[in-house]
Amino acid sequence: MQLCVVWSTNCIAFRCQTCAYSPYMTLYTQCFHEGDHEGHEFKMYRSAGGFCDCGDKNLLRETGFCPRHGLYDEPNPLPGLFAKLSNKLE
Ligand SMILES: [Zn+2]
Ligand SMILES: [Zn+2]
Ligand SMILES: [Zn+2]
Repeated sequence: MQLCVVWSTNCIAFRCQTCAYSPYMTLYTQCFHEGDHEGHEFKMYRSAGGFCDCGDKNLLRETGFCPRHGLYDEPNPLPGLFAKLSNKLE
């Protein structure tokens, strides 16, 4: 997992109660908007500093990740599979 955004100035951050496992998780504005939190119970607040927890499976549901940090496209498993198959054929 890649650390998203770190901020140290007063900044608007979001906490989605529907997605969070931890009451202290924080989502940066951009990640919050890019993630799918429609109809969720969330709070907007002013944060004096912190970092975005987007992409951390221990803190929030994967469905709350934004497309940049969550639900990565898994590396394509097909080349390995084909290699195995062709080994069998030989
Ligand atoms: Zn994100
Ligand atoms: Zn959410
Ligand atoms: Zn983020």
